[in-house]
Amino acid sequence: MSTRLDGNALAGPMSEIFGRDMTAVIGRCRNCGDASELARTMVYPDAPGIVVRCPGCREVLFTLVHARGRTLIGFGTIAGLQG
Ligand SMILES: [Zn+2]
Repeated sequence: MSTRLDGNALAGPMSEIFGRDMTAVIGRCRNCGDASELARTMVYPDAPGIVVRCPGCREVLFTLVHARGRTLIGFGTIAGLQG
């Protein structure tokens, strides 16, 4: 069983890229149309990288991978971010 956290766990990793706390930003899922604050997402930190799943349909919204001092965002079903 992998650890599951809520989207507040994204505050640190996402601020490394965006320079601010992104947990209150609205993310929209292309798969189910859910639009929720990133704080409401389901975060699995133990995968290779961090996997962020939609609270509506559980599809992978995006992933965050740290490598060589950089962070890579891989886009899944995330259709947009609205801050
Ligand atoms: Zn969804």
